[in-house]
This record gives sequence, C-alpha cells and structure tokens, in this order.
Amino acid sequence: MTKKYVFAFEEGDWRNKKLLGGKGASLAQMTQLGLPVPPGFTITTEACRDFYAPRKEEIDKIVKELERNPPPKVRDELIKRIWEIINSLDLPDGLMDQVREYMKKLEEKSGKRFGSPENPLLVSVRSGAAISMPGMMDTVLNLGLNDEVTPGLAKLANNEWFAYDAYRRFLAMFGRIVLEIPEEVFDKEFDKLDEEFRKEAEEKFKEELEAVKKQFPKYSLRLDAQPPREVAPNTWKLAVEYLKKLVEIYKEAIKKHWGEFPQDPWKQLELAIKAVFRSWMNPRAIYYRIANNITPDKADCTAVNIVMMVFGNMGWDSGTGVYFTRDPATGENKPYGEFLPNAQGEDVVAGIRTPLKLEELKARMPEVYDQLIEAGKKLERINKDVMDIEFTVERRKLYFLQNRKAKMTPAARVKTAVDMAKEGIITKEEAILKVSPDVVLKLLYPRIDPKAKATPIAKGLPASPGAVSGQVVFHPDDAVEWARKGKRVILVRVETKPDDVHGFYAAVGILTSRGGMTSHAAVVARGIGKPAVVGAEAIKIDYEKKEFRVGDIVVKEGDWITIDGSTGNVYVGKVPTVEPELIPELQELLAWADSVRRLGVRANADVPEDARIARKFGAEGIGLLRIERMFRKPERLKALRNVILSETREERVEHLKKLAAMIKPDFKEMLKIMDGLPVVIRLIDPPLHEFLPAPEELLRELYEAKIAYYTLKSSEAVKNIAPDVLEEYERKIAELEELYRRVMVLKEHNPMMGHRGVRVGVTYPEIYYYLTRAMVEAAAELLKEGHNPKLEIMIPQVSEVREIEYVKENAVLPAIRDVEKEYGIKVPVKIGTMVETVRACLTAKKLAKAVDFFSFGTNDLTQATFSFSRDDVENKFLPQYLELEILKSNPFQTLDVEGVGKLVAMATKDGKEANPHLEVGICGEHGGDPASIEFLHRAGLDYVSASPFRIVVARLAAAHAAIKYGGKKE
Ligand code: PEP
Ligand code: MG
Repeated sequence: MTKKYVFAFEEGDWRNKKLLGGKGASLAQMTQLGLPVPPGFTITTEACRDFYAPRKEEIDKIVKELERNPPPKVRDELIKRIWEIINSLDLPDGLMDQVREYMKKLEEKSGKRFGSPENPLLVSVRSGAAISMPGMMDTVLNLGLNDEVTPGLAKLANNEWFAYDAYRRFLAMFGRIVLEIPEEVFDKEFDKLDEEFRKEAEEKFKEELEAVKKQFPKYSLRLDAQPPREVAPNTWKLAVEYLKKLVEIYKEAIKKHWGEFPQDPWKQLELAIKAVFRSWMNPRAIYYRIANNITPDKADCTAVNIVMMVFGNMGWDSGTGVYFTRDPATGENKPYGEFLPNAQGEDVVAGIRTPLKLEELKARMPEVYDQLIEAGKKLERINKDVMDIEFTVERRKLYFLQNRKAKMTPAARVKTAVDMAKEGIITKEEAILKVSPDVVLKLLYPRIDPKAKATPIAKGLPASPGAVSGQVVFHPDDAVEWARKGKRVILVRVETKPDDVHGFYAAVGILTSRGGMTSHAAVVARGIGKPAVVGAEAIKIDYEKKEFRVGDIVVKEGDWITIDGSTGNVYVGKVPTVEPELIPELQELLAWADSVRRLGVRANADVPEDARIARKFGAEGIGLLRIERMFRKPERLKALRNVILSETREERVEHLKKLAAMIKPDFKEMLKIMDGLPVVIRLIDPPLHEFLPAPEELLRELYEAKIAYYTLKSSEAVKNIAPDVLEEYERKIAELEELYRRVMVLKEHNPMMGHRGVRVGVTYPEIYYYLTRAMVEAAAELLKEGHNPKLEIMIPQVSEVREIEYVKENAVLPAIRDVEKEYGIKVPVKIGTMVETVRACLTAKKLAKAVDFFSFGTNDLTQATFSFSRDDVENKFLPQYLELEILKSNPFQTLDVEGVGKLVAMATKDGKEANPHLEVGICGEHGGDPASIEFLHRAGLDYVSASPFRIVVARLAAAHAAIKYGGKKE
C-alpha cells in the first residue's frame, strides 16, 4: 500500500505541524473551527522527504559546504549542482494519484471543474514548512488557466480585464518559479507594453482619463491596475487588448526558454508541486535555515497546499491583507495590519505597492473587518499567542488563507507575553517561557545619545529597533564580503527580496527606501533582531553609481551612516549611542521570573560603573570582582611592579602598604554600591609577570639607551659640559639591566599553569595579607559609617586543601584579626575558594570543610579539563573542530556538560555533603549562558554570576530552568 500523502483541510490533525507544515496545519485548524477558508488539501512534508530521498546524501553534503559560507563564486557553483540533482528527481510513486482523487473532491466541494471553461476551478499551490520561513519558498497562483479556460473565466466574472490579468500573472509566475525562466524576461516585456499602453491611452482617451482623475484621484494609469470601466470604457478595452497581447508574448518567451507552455492543467499541477518541493532548496531558503538554526528535527522539507483560488483583485470591493492580532513592533493590544484593495496576496508580501492601514478596511467594509478581528481573537486564545493572519476579500466575502504565530520585536514579544498573562490567556509561567533568554539581550538596545544633537537626513518606518552605525553597501554579496573582512556594514536597498537574506545576516542594520512594516525587509530584520529602517522614501538609490542621495547630500559606498530602528531616523556619519534602560514590561516579567527561579544571580564586576549597571539589571550581589583591573591606572601599576620586583620582604611590605592604601577606596565604593548584598573579591590571580614589561620591550629600551650613552660618551664636549647627563644614562642602563634580570627570573614556560593564584599567596603571604587588609578595612569603615557590607574573600587556583589552610593561617585570618583589633569592630567575612582545577573538584570534600563557599571558575576548569589553552584555542583549531562537528559548541561559551559538567556536579554534591552550609556558585563565562544555566540549576548550584549585561538573561534562564525541571523557589 502506498503512503497517505494527502489530507483535506477537514481531515488533517492541525496539531501536527511537522507533517502538514505550518500553513497546512493552520488551514486545517481554521477550517475545523468553522472559519471561512477556501477548500483545499495538503500534501505532507513526508511526500517532500520521499521526493528528495534518492539523492539526499549528495544534497546534504553540498549544503554542509554552503554552511561554511564559501565565496560567492564557489557558492553559485554549489547551488547549481544542487539544482541539477533536484531536476533529475521524480515525484514519489502514487502521489499524483492521490492528488487527482483529492482534486475530484475539491471539484465537488467548490462546484467548479479543473480545466473546464464553463466553471473553472483554479488553485494556488503553496509552500509551507513546519517552521515559518516567510517568503523563502515558492507559491504559484491562478493555476489551471490556459487559452480555453481564460475566456471562460472572463465570462463568469463578467470581466475580461480580470481574466487576462490573472492569466498573464500566472504565465509569469509559472515561467519564473516552475520553469526557471529569469524574472527579467517577463519584467522587460511587461515594462515595454505598459509604456506603450499608457502612451496610446493618453493620446487617444485624454478626456476619459481626466474624468477618471476627478473621480479616483489615487488611480494611476498602468497596465497592472484595472481602469474603472464605467468612467473610462475605451481605456479599459485598450488595456484588455494589451493584456491579451502580453499573454501571447509571454507564451512565446516560455517557448523560447523552455518549450511549449503546458496548456494541460494537470501537467501544470504536477510541475508546480515539484517546483514547490524544489523551493525547499532555494539558496535563500537554505541560508535562512542555516542562519536561524532550523535543523531537520525542527522542520524537514516543505508541505504543499493546494487551495481553491479566491480573488482579491475582483474589483474595489475585493482585496488582500495581513492582520496581526497585536502590534508586532510595540506589542500594543490593538489590531495591526495592512490591506491592499483590488490586489493579489503577492503584491503585499513583495512590498511592491504601499498598502493601506487596516483601519481603512473598517471604514470600507465594517462587517468584514469585525469578522476578521473576532476570528483573530479566537485564534489567539486557542493558539495562546499573537497571530499573523493572511486574508483575502472577494466581493465583500472574507477568506482566511493562513495564520501563524507572529514574528515580533523583542519588546513586543515581552509586552504581549506579559499582557496575555494578565488577560488570562496564558499563565505567568507560560509567559516566562515565551520569552527566550537571549531575546531580552536584544532589548537592551543602544539609543541615539540625546546629547549628540544629530540631525537626521531622512525618516522611514521604525521597522526593527536599535541604533547602529555602519558603512554603506548596496549589494547583499558585498555585505557578506565586507563583513568577512571585519567591517560593520549597513545594507541599503530600494526594497529587499528573500534572495537578499544572506546580506541581512552579514549587515549590522538594514535601510530601504520602499516598503511597509510588513514588507520582507521589516519582517526578516525583526525576526533576527537587526535594527532596520524601511520605506525611507527621501533616499534615492543609484545601484550603478553605488551611492544614494537625499537632496544635495550624497552618500557613497563605504561612507558611515547611523540608523535608528526605534524612531526610523537616518543620519550621516557615526552618531554616538547611549546605554539602554529596562522597559516596564520586562521589569514585570523579570519580577515573575525572580519569583520562580531558585538560582541566585550575581554579577562579575570589577569597577563601580559595572557594579551600578549590574544593580540596575537586578544583580543580587557580586560573584566575582577581579582585583587585577584595579591595577590598570599607571601609578597603581607602578606600585604593584615595585611589590613584585622587591628582593626582600621588608621592601615588599613597604610597597604593599602604599598599594593597599590606593585600592582601599575602590573596595569601599564597590561594597557601598552593593550595600547589603554579598561581594566576592578575589585575591590576586594572574601570573605576576603579566604586570611587568615584556622582555623584548626592555631589551629594545636597553639597546637604545646604550647607543645614546656611547654616542654621547665619545663626544669630548659633552664629557666636559654635561657629565651629569652621562651619569643619568648610566643609572638608567643599570636599572634596565636589573629589571630585565628580574623579569627573566619570573618568566615561565606555561604561565597559565605557573606561579599564579594561591601559589603567590603561599610564596608571598604578605601580598595576600595586605590585599585582605585593604578589603577588610574598607568593610570596617563602612560598618562604622552605618552601612552593611557583605565581604566574601575568594582564594583562586587552589588544587590542595593545605594551600587554603596555609594562606588562611598566614595571611587572611591575621589580616582580619588585625583590622578588627585596630578598628575595634567585628567584621563578618566569608572565606571561599574558586574551584577551577581538576584536583579541586576531585578533592571537593576536603576543600569544603575549609571554606564557606565554592565558586566554579569554569574558564580555567574548561581549560584544565580539555587541556586546551583558553587564550589560543579560539583562533587556532576550535573553528575547525566546530565545523567538523568534533565539538558541538564552543566549550568556553556553553558548558561542556559531559566532561566539565560532570566535575561541577560531582564537586557540588561532594562539597555540600561535607559542609551543609557551603554556598556554591559559578563565576566563569558560562554563568551568563542560558544552556549552561539550565544545567547548573539541575546540578544544584546556589547562584550564577554573569557579566552585567547578561544579568537579565541569567534571571530569565534560571526561571526557565526552574519551570522546566522543577526545584523552584520554596
Ligand atoms: C575562571 O577561570 O572561570 C574565572 C572566572 O577566572 P578568570 O577568568 O579570571 O581566570
Ligand atoms: Mg580562573
């Protein structure tokens, strides 16, 4: 028995998107809910998979090569190869038999007949994968027309213009999509006839046209817009003649490029089904999947929907549109959309004509509008999300053609989730899960600095928010090329097509001079979170000259511009931007997230500025303050160098006292910003020589000093006049020689595994003593001033418990005791250790008894577990490892659960068993990565610490983990 490849809209299970595709499932859902949907059926994605099956392996291999983003030439060659393979494939056995059977049923339901001139059934053949890929695949409309059917349709509609317009559209679409004839072939012929038509009409029917102008001021004379027959009957007739002429020319063109146009509707149907299957492998579709990480487990091949045609271009009481149940840019709960009267759906999606606002439909056809809005609300409740609905009105009758979950800006995503929870459509937890943690990062948009006082040169629609500067390029291929060279580019186009999508990913922003909020550019930019301004009509683009003009201003390729996708403004040059703020809805959602998450969220912050941002974003303390960054100021670096270069303890202590005095105010400020919240300060960690000048640098200085010295010395005059200059040089040379000697002594072969962290504390306890003193003094002073500092001191790079015991006894505890005595006040301090060596994990039980807390340093721990140098790996072999899929992801970004994760889980469990009061956190980069956070929640950690901008991500990710895996806050 052959497989069941075809399901009528009444019969398919609309929950099964993987089988029916998103569009097929939505058509089934709406049909089964009793909404007006034109009758039709869906060919499953399984049929498409079976179509590809015979040559799947070869095709997959080529797609893999495309994933590596080869240069355009190679890319085009690879794509050609894919298409050669596809064109050799046949439809799966039995498919067309089932299609015929369902077409018969469709004929019965519609009362029309396929291929019959009397009452012709015309269909659309529409693509639709499990995941929506807007505009990426193909659709053929008006299928079933031929030389005999068209006059029949004309009679039936009582409108020859309409029938021949449909026929010429069909020929061009069929020619381009199914027969692969270049679009320009048809466009050129159209433009030629369009011009001739206008000229002839203007010459012959001047009066008629003037009458039209009076009655329909918006009408413009063109071959693809029907002239009002009652006012201009002769112009109308002329247009029909021209359309008929165009039909003949198109058929000739098809004959020349492909062969005789197939008049048999069944042949048309078979070819169109194959073409839609094939469009799964369109270059743009392939790139879209790569960029959006649409893997076969999410969507594998496209379904094909065969739907009875309804006509939005049957006159001014017809039309086509898109309706979002809420505003996809702002999230506001009001219907949003566009409506194009007397047009077919493709005109809206392509952004060729600028449509009317949806409200205008309300004014023109209130009953249709009400029916639409009501259905939208119903679909929203059932699907628990904001809906994006395509519809057509044929002579005042409404038809639904598709619904899908709306793609929205991150701001709208957050607002609608919060609103829908408040309206009782979803629960708070569902609202949290609707917002993926990485999306909120995009909500922290930079804005144009209001102080910059920049004047925009043009304004378009604010299609996708965020302000960004980049160099102008006009072609998507150039965007890719320039981006490969590390440039930040803004892709500037008149309008964009799905074919341009690779340029979107390469660019930092998109600017178009045409198109509306639902145009392709706007939809895709929003989907991928790139700032975009569309429809900036003042911009006149010249692709040939590679420049655009606004009045007298000329902007050439490579010039810098700034676009602000939140306001629609376009500026010349780089305009400064400022830090983002949290929008109120996000605050609300995060508050809900906070009430369910178990993991605490702290920040990695080293300077007051970072600490302030972190607090603003909701950090519950500092999980890692690396004191190294405090030594960047020149006088501090000098003091630290003196400490390192000291030869005796006494000398070292002298310098340490000065250093401690310098950094104490910083500790105090950080503790004050985080008043009442824990602040983990880490004792010095990096290898000491990192704070000293490089040996090569010293040698160069020495060399130059010696040359200058000997040159001067050989001059008798200098010897007599300025002996002190010579002495100065001698001193300098001696100093440099000594410094070089010390630097060479400290130099190590593997500094990352060398004299660093606690090992410095063991060899020079006085360094840890004075650093601890500075921290504890800062806390003591704050306590005296009435604050509530919560200091936690952390010892890095530990691999043996005795290291902790030693530095505690010889440095940290004495420092605390001494300060307490001097200030006469008890300073509560926790002492903990970083867990970042493998041995620390393996001996966690012992370590736990010696400390109050653990904090996993998963940067070093990853390095140690893989034996990968973290400073080198990312620009040496890791890219290949990822490409070859030896590793699935970068282990320095996403925690390697199998290896490093095992150590983390084990050490957490062992540590907590040995010391029930032990607090366990993480301060490696993984603390801000959603996938890692999910694991850390399950491993039983108490908190994560992330960089300030990732705090919001971490709060949400921790809530997701708690909802998915349980173990929420008590
Ligand atoms: C770590 O190793 O994970 C860590 C946080 O410390 P650093 O990156 O400073 O070595
Ligand atoms: Mg470390």
